[in-house]
Amino acid sequence: MAGDSGEGAKLQLYNTAARTKEPLRPLSGKRIAFYSCGPTVYDHAHIGNFRAFLTYDVLKRWLTYRGFEVDHVCNLTDIDDKIIRRMARDGVGLRELTDRYAALFFEDLAALNVVPARAYPRATDHVAEIVEMVQTLLEKGLAYENNGSIYFRVARHSGYGALANLKFEGMQDGAGEGGGISDLDEYETDKESAKDFALWKAYKPEDGPVFWETALGKGRPGWHIECSAMARKYLGDTIDIHAGGIDLVFPHHENEVAQSEGATGKPFCNCWVHNGFVNVGGEKMSKSKGNFLTLRGALATALDVRAFRYLVVTSQYRTMLNFTPDVLAGAKSAVKRLDKARAALSKALEGGGGEGGDAAAAAAAAAQRAAAAALAQFKGGMDDDLNAPRAAAGLFALIKAIEKEAKAGSLSAAAAHVYSEALDKMDSVLGVFYEPPGYEPEGGQGGEEGGAVEIPPDRAAAKAAKDWSSADAARAAITARGFAIKDVAGGGVEVTRL
Ligand SMILES: [Zn+2]
Repeated sequence: MAGDSGEGAKLQLYNTAARTKEPLRPLSGKRIAFYSCGPTVYDHAHIGNFRAFLTYDVLKRWLTYRGFEVDHVCNLTDIDDKIIRRMARDGVGLRELTDRYAALFFEDLAALNVVPARAYPRATDHVAEIVEMVQTLLEKGLAYENNGSIYFRVARHSGYGALANLKFEGMQDGAGEGGGISDLDEYETDKESAKDFALWKAYKPEDGPVFWETALGKGRPGWHIECSAMARKYLGDTIDIHAGGIDLVFPHHENEVAQSEGATGKPFCNCWVHNGFVNVGGEKMSKSKGNFLTLRGALATALDVRAFRYLVVTSQYRTMLNFTPDVLAGAKSAVKRLDKARAALSKALEGGGGEGGDAAAAAAAAAQRAAAAALAQFKGGMDDDLNAPRAAAGLFALIKAIEKEAKAGSLSAAAAHVYSEALDKMDSVLGVFYEPPGYEPEGGQGGEEGGAVEIPPDRAAAKAAKDWSSADAARAAITARGFAIKDVAGGGVEVTRL
């Protein structure tokens, strides 16, 4: 049987730039230089953002399974217009604000069992690299200054629009709210052409204490340039894979290509991987609809969190994912079923038992065949552009074989060993067997289909204190349980089923 490592040629990924699946062809042997766009750290990230981070995680785990050494870097956007507005609103300093939400982001990643990247560089720690890249673009005539701001001259860069295929519909920014990935740059009034975009923003009084005195003047970096500068610093001029949500294709990733290729004269990225949106109850998430879900708001228990991970990692990453209480309940049952099968394996392994003999040998051989077939199905799915539903069919073929033997009382230690090995291999990619740190272990959690819904008492307190983040989180927690709440005259709250 073939080993688990090697041949990228068998592994196909959908490359947005090529608009087709392509075999993975690493630039340097087994190393994969992998860059992903991280969150803007000024608020809680929402579950749509976490779908992106889980997609990168599964991709990384699958590449590792296949024997590649993945060098993953994910930026933190810690300077943009929303951050400056939030600083003014909350009366906090930039680092205080961004440190707080960066810490929460890392807590959530740990809760979701995400393998950490090698580095999470911040834009504000890389202003020197950003300035250097902007200077190069100015020298090459690919950028110009106007009223202290510096813009990329799109007309001078051939190939602009190739990544996005200049099909803009459906690619407008979708992550502008909450702690999502940053949205469009604002106040660009001094441009030669509407398509030009800011590399450096001249200081304005509204920026308050947020500015850098640099060779480019007093101001701050635009959003797009940070990813070009940091990808280059940490991973080199040309990278193997760049990932992000589908909403980032245009303009963010298109602009990254223009800046990086303009500055280096080399191809920027060989394969662009983009994941689809998450809708809540069939609708796009939005604060005004009250369906804007943070991880803590949507997922109360350890099982909820594992179920969310399971739901995302077993879905096809490019499709839209609809998050509803029913979908989460389905994922919870699946995780419980996996836990039960795993417990049966542990029990059989602890029992030791089985003296051997012909019957036991035959049973172990049968287990070997069943496990190999299930694993082949799993691998075939994952190799085909991370076709997780197909891979999950392999997982459940394995689970069924375990359940059948456990039910018949014929699960030997030898067979359990074979099944465990296969299950561990699959879980090295899916990552669903773990205890989420910071969440209470599951203890029955009665009434999940329950009739009544409790309004967290801290919502009223949060609203009174104008702590909108906490008030939104409390509302989202209720939405995730299938209810909508509406404030009514007189200070009361009306609760309806979604
Ligand atoms: Zn980016």
